[in-house]
Amino acid sequence: MTVVPKRSLMSLEPYDPGPLPRDLAASLGRPVIPLNANESPYGHSPSAEDRILKVLREGLNRYPDPLARELRGALSRHWGLPEDCFLVDNGLDGVITLLGITFLEEGDEVLHGGVTFSVYRSLAGRLGARSVEVPMRGDWSLDLKGFAERITPRTKLVFLCNPNNPTGTVFSHGELQEFLEKVPPGVLVVCDEAYGDFADLPDFPRTAEMIAQRDNLVMLRTFSKAYGLAGLRVGYIAGSKRVISHMRRAKEPYSVNALALAGALGALEDMGFLRSVVERVIREREELQGGLSALGVSFVRSYGNFVFLLFGASSDRVFHGLVERGIMVRHYGPLGAVRVTVGRPEENRAFLDALKEVL
Ligand code: PMP
Repeated sequence: MTVVPKRSLMSLEPYDPGPLPRDLAASLGRPVIPLNANESPYGHSPSAEDRILKVLREGLNRYPDPLARELRGALSRHWGLPEDCFLVDNGLDGVITLLGITFLEEGDEVLHGGVTFSVYRSLAGRLGARSVEVPMRGDWSLDLKGFAERITPRTKLVFLCNPNNPTGTVFSHGELQEFLEKVPPGVLVVCDEAYGDFADLPDFPRTAEMIAQRDNLVMLRTFSKAYGLAGLRVGYIAGSKRVISHMRRAKEPYSVNALALAGALGALEDMGFLRSVVERVIREREELQGGLSALGVSFVRSYGNFVFLLFGASSDRVFHGLVERGIMVRHYGPLGAVRVTVGRPEENRAFLDALKEVL
């Protein structure tokens, strides 16, 4: 007899982030450009740093506010929703785990796209729920009609990633409205808008407005992407007071540390910085896509801070060729695809130069 984990975990592999940029640089003997994790290349706002330093100077001997009242106050002003409609946790990863702990019974179904953020699938495995994939449309976008068709009496959570990681596609306000009309009230629709800041689609869902009118829709947002605070680990959910109060029953009191709360608050106080990052990323994304077209590479038009490239059978060769040249990207081997994060202008040029060599 040995110690065994619960059965539903056995279909999951431990998360493998690959080598650290530093270690890869050492083994290649050259600098590397990390374009594999959809991080911002532009750092964070000075006001985030000021707030963090202030907390540090005051000392870390006291516990942080488990209710994150100051940050939730700022989020309430930012979105025009009551404070009780927000819950802050240890990155969106933490928020997603909390959604599972709060709502999933063993055997419940979690619906998500066939090619989407992998944590939705692992959530189901971690909690003994069933992950149900909805095949992507031919253009690599989420098939909202397909989602509606797959809802059963066991469906509890529906994850809609918008823009979708890794394919970069978006659905519109109208498409979301139409979908919601087909969803029974006991199914929670989770719009994961981790990359929402980059979605320059005129009709991008105004999810926060819709939340005020219904009980089974929530929006996820993070400070890890456009705000450039991936290392701090702060994400939040906006939803009805009822949904948020259920989640508070299950939340670890001190899951967000004092530095993280302070940094996120500072970041929210500097919308000028956010706007300048978003502008630069969008400009560079368009530039990068232009460069890809010029090389004749097929890709999915993106509304995020990354682009999904389709190489078919040669994706292995392309991926390894890029890594050898110090360009870190994410490989989706079984799909014959590679995802590249939009970097600084010179990083994107280095990526395109390396790609040209390996094609
Ligand atoms: N949702 C999506 C779609 C993501 O891509 C990510 C990060 N890769 C997350 C959530 C988790 O973000 P966080 O850093 O806030 O945990």
